[in-house]
Amino acid sequence: MSEILPPCCGDATGQPPTGLSRRTLLRGTAWATGALAVGGVVGLPGTAHAAPVIYNPFAAYPITGTWQDHLNYGSLGGIDFGMGVGTALPACGAGTIQNIPDNGTGGHTVTIYHADGYRSQYMHLSQFLLAYGTAVGAGTIVGRSGGAVSAPGSGSSTGPHLHWHMINPSGVRINPLTYISQNPGGGLPKTTTEYDGVPGPAFYQRMQNWLRITAGYTGPIDGVPGPNTWKAGSGSAPAGATPGRSTG
Ligand SMILES: [Zn+2]
Repeated sequence: MSEILPPCCGDATGQPPTGLSRRTLLRGTAWATGALAVGGVVGLPGTAHAAPVIYNPFAAYPITGTWQDHLNYGSLGGIDFGMGVGTALPACGAGTIQNIPDNGTGGHTVTIYHADGYRSQYMHLSQFLLAYGTAVGAGTIVGRSGGAVSAPGSGSSTGPHLHWHMINPSGVRINPLTYISQNPGGGLPKTTTEYDGVPGPAFYQRMQNWLRITAGYTGPIDGVPGPNTWKAGSGSAPAGATPGRSTG
């Protein structure tokens, strides 16, 4: 089966079933079991029954490959967001980390094990940042994007981008954006101090999230401003990361 991949949107899992794909699948299943043992709090059945709260950390980036695009070229599904290599990747929800180096055509893949058997996977990474079993919250940076052709970890990617899909408890890929629309309430908390003029943790958490998108902040989204938060907010952002303006 031949595929026609849109530019910059190669999905690694669009390949026809092969021995390699099968091995990858089996390996993923085994690791899933291991992660559940390590991250038992989120993985144990019966401890939580609400669907996990997920938000879209990539809303600021253009979609270069839709879910339907993926299906059209034989992928199990995913969404591609165009972004430069090295972009910080925030967790879309709380969970436990599993890194899968060179995950077949998906390249370097990070899996976030959410509650109740849901998972999210980010593919074609250039760098892992967290150890196996690390617990993360929404917004925690879990790795850096990649996807440059033939770069280590890129898998079959045709250009810099992030591929994101979710997997439901039955092991079926699902569209994260559809999931979010059906399970609203995700996202970083809105400030509760909008009206009293006294910035609190929620305010600083939102500020960190904004600085992450606009000024290259890569620290935690924890609502506790530290040196990196102040540095990013004081204008010493990386070249090219500062919002543009008119010059005429
Ligand atoms: Zn993709």
